[in-house]
Order: sequence, then C-alpha cells, then structure tokens
Amino acid sequence: MTRSVLRLAGFTVSMLILASASTAWAAQAWPTRPVALVVPFSAGGPTDTVARVLANAMSKSLGKSVVVENRTGAGGTIGAGYVARARKDGYTFLLHHNGMATSRALYRELPFDALNSFEYIGEVVDVPMTLVGRADLPPDDMKSLTAWLRANRDKVNLAHAGPGAASHMCAMLLRRALGLQLTTVPFQGTAPAMTALVGGHVDLLCDQTTQTLSYIRAKKVKMYGTAARRRIGLLPDSPTLIEGGLKDFEVTVWHGIYAPKGTPRIALDGFGSALRQALRDPEVIRRFRELGGEPVADQQATPAGLRDRLRAEIGKWTPIIRSETGYLD
Ligand code: ASP
Repeated sequence: MTRSVLRLAGFTVSMLILASASTAWAAQAWPTRPVALVVPFSAGGPTDTVARVLANAMSKSLGKSVVVENRTGAGGTIGAGYVARARKDGYTFLLHHNGMATSRALYRELPFDALNSFEYIGEVVDVPMTLVGRADLPPDDMKSLTAWLRANRDKVNLAHAGPGAASHMCAMLLRRALGLQLTTVPFQGTAPAMTALVGGHVDLLCDQTTQTLSYIRAKKVKMYGTAARRRIGLLPDSPTLIEGGLKDFEVTVWHGIYAPKGTPRIALDGFGSALRQALRDPEVIRRFRELGGEPVADQQATPAGLRDRLRAEIGKWTPIIRSETGYLD
C-alpha cells in the first residue's frame, strides 16, 4: 500500500516536471501557427505587393505561413489602429509606409500613437514615386502638362490612396508646386485608384513604381516624371519631375514593420531576423529591384533603424503638412 502510494507520488512528480518543462518550451517556441501581416491598403497595390514578396520568403524561414491581411481605409490609419489594439501575442504585425509619419500631423484624433503604440521590427524597402496620367490625357510631358493643368484646373481629378497616404502627400506637393487647387479623389489604396485611372475616370495619380511600372511599360498610362533626384535605371528615358520644372520635387516611399506594444521578445526577435534574412535573399532582392525598389541595408532593417527613420520622417513631414493646409483636402 505504502509502496504504491509512493510510486503514484513519484509518477505525479515526474508528470509535473514534464508539464512545466513543456510549458517553458512552449513559451520559447514561436511561431506555432500562422502569423498575420496586416497591410493597411487594398490588395494588389504597392504596399500589398511588398508585403506579399516578404511574406513568401519569411514563411519559408519561419516554417509557418505569414498571411497578408488587408485592412483598408482612411489613408492606412484604420489598419494601423487595428494592429495597435491587436492581441500582443506575437501573431499580428503591420507593414506600413510614410503614412505612419504623416498621419500624426494630418489627423486630429488617431486610434494609435506612432511613437508609443508599437514595437518596431525594421525598415524594408525604399521605392520612388512616379506621376502618371490616363492614357488619353493630351499633354505628353511635364512642361505641357503644367500648362494644360492651368488651363483645365476646374475639370482635373487627382486620385490618391486616402489622407496621409504617400500618393496624397505627392498630390499635395504637386498642387503646391503648381499653385493649383486641383480636385482630389481618395481611394482605399492604389489598386482601385489605378483601375479608375486606366478606366479614364480620374486624370492623374502619383504613386510608387511598385504599381506604376508595368502600366507605364504597357502604355496603359502616360508617364510624366519620377519624383526622385535622379532618373531611375528602370525608366532611363523618363525625366524626373525636377527636370520637368518642379523644383526639388522628391518623394520616396519607405516601408516598415511594426507589432503591437508589449509583443513578446521571442516574436519580435524572430520576426526581425526573418525580415533581415528575407532582405538578403537574392530572389527577394531581384523582385524588389524589378519593381523599382531598393531593399534597405541590414542596419536599417532593425528596431533602431526603423525608429530613427520614423522620427526623421515625422520631423520632415509635420512642418510641410502644417504649412500646406491650403493644398491638403
Ligand atoms: N501607394 C499607396 C499610397 O499612396 C498605398 C497602397 O500601397 O495601396 O500610399
């Protein structure tokens, strides 16, 4: 009797040891199920394309699927707010762009605070923007477009991906450079804006090469210039907007990955090293470059790299936005 009680007690103790060891192991094991990568713009757009290239590579290295989830609206602020309030369990991340910096100055109230609601994972890729028009727009270059816009200022529509989106900022800078209050039309992302442009329902769109390149090459849209200091290698014959007469006209779209504040360290470190591994993957580099993007250097694809970029971009955009209220609608 005593011996069997002792045996039972011994069995219970070893089960407890095993159970606590496996709980400790489970806390160390991440990911054990698919991970969501939220994109705050529509599927098929530039930010979504970047997310899908990354998700594909990161799924392989993490051994679990990274699933892209599109939560659109209000220039990316709805998706960012969703991630800020998501469970801090290491299974929800956000891929955002310049909007993380610009929305602070644009919105009176936001469902998140760019500097306090998130953990930073790292920067991803920089992409130049291009100004494109519907294929049958009469002007053929930026100089004649400028004259045409002045003559048609009351009829022209400028599409963008919502207040605070990179395309909205580019539209604002264009209106300011020309001194024209052109009408703007917000969409949930670039994919529907581009559909409207190709369908001839809007006149102009300034957006990432990630989206515009294939349409420019297929002549489905007219190219008016790149919003970069220098011509880009993939479009050597297309002048910059600066060459077209728009002084200092430069907008680069930068992308970063975030997690809800309080996400466990194992998930932050794990997602971060999967990101850096993906950015060294020749296939990912090739894909980003053929879309006009340049993957960031290793030290920028880190929490400190992203935090510094975000702070610098908030510092850059806040005064521009505050002083340009006349061109912000
Ligand atoms: N390119 C977009 C922007 O203008 C958003 C998107 O990726 O759909 O911010």
